[in-house]
Amino acid sequence: MGPKDRVTTRLVPLGVAVVVTVAALAQVSCSGCARRRLARPQVAATVFPVYDIVRRLAGDRLDVHLILAPGLDAHSYEPRPRDVATLADSSLIFAVGLELDGWAQDLARSAGAGEARVFEMGPLMDPILAPQGLIRTEPFIDGHFWLDPLRAERAVDVIVEALGALDPVGGPFYRGRGEELKRSFQALHEDIASRAARWSSRRIVSFHGSLFYFASRYDLEVVGVVEPVPGQEPTARQLAALLDLLRGPEPAVLFSEPQMDDVLADALAREAGVSAWDIDPMGGRPGTESYERLMRQVVAVMDQALR
Ligand SMILES: [Zn+2]
Repeated sequence: MGPKDRVTTRLVPLGVAVVVTVAALAQVSCSGCARRRLARPQVAATVFPVYDIVRRLAGDRLDVHLILAPGLDAHSYEPRPRDVATLADSSLIFAVGLELDGWAQDLARSAGAGEARVFEMGPLMDPILAPQGLIRTEPFIDGHFWLDPLRAERAVDVIVEALGALDPVGGPFYRGRGEELKRSFQALHEDIASRAARWSSRRIVSFHGSLFYFASRYDLEVVGVVEPVPGQEPTARQLAALLDLLRGPEPAVLFSEPQMDDVLADALAREAGVSAWDIDPMGGRPGTESYERLMRQVVAVMDQALR
């Protein structure tokens, strides 16, 4: 953690407290009057892949806000005061859950939105329990369900339902757009499946526990994870085990992620004499401005890394 991070950590709780106090005062001075009137209902999503689905379903019927700015790590995110303001106005907050964005619940409470308005989608997506022994002794659940396009299709259905409950008049509109999105995700899946069938390497080491859904859908095997607990560096023994996987007779392919510690990934790659292939599982950056583009970026890298 650099000096800049430390300042942020110290300032944020203070900022949140100030905003909450202002909100509380506003409520007292305005008891009985309606919430601030906004032209359209406001909804929010914690991470880009979910946000992209929600905004495409919402069209111009709802305003959709993204909480986690692209390029940041969801696991270690320190919410900012303006996130509290965004959530205070939101009727519904789409989150992943499964320990990926646990800060969303606290944020919603700070914003006076209440836990009831946070909709955790991960538990509905047939969560995958990472096998035990992958450098971490206790099992953990991967939260990155969207890296499987068929689960992303299921997410479309779930979000269509939720938006229809929020805005019943818009129900048919959301359903129509949902069908369109699912057709696009289905085509994406078929394309990935045909490419994945040609990959000759199938053993992978991911930087954090993000690739279990992708691997399970396209018949890859996650044999190791560098940081099963994001931000917690592997011990010397764990590093030795990872090096064995990368150098073994059937070497696994190493993937790094831009939101994570690239110094560690590069050091590991150098030591093993292999490449670290950078993939972005979160998206929302130049080149990954839609769910499909995010997935195509992952697959383009895998085409190179696993051929
Ligand atoms: Zn993650």
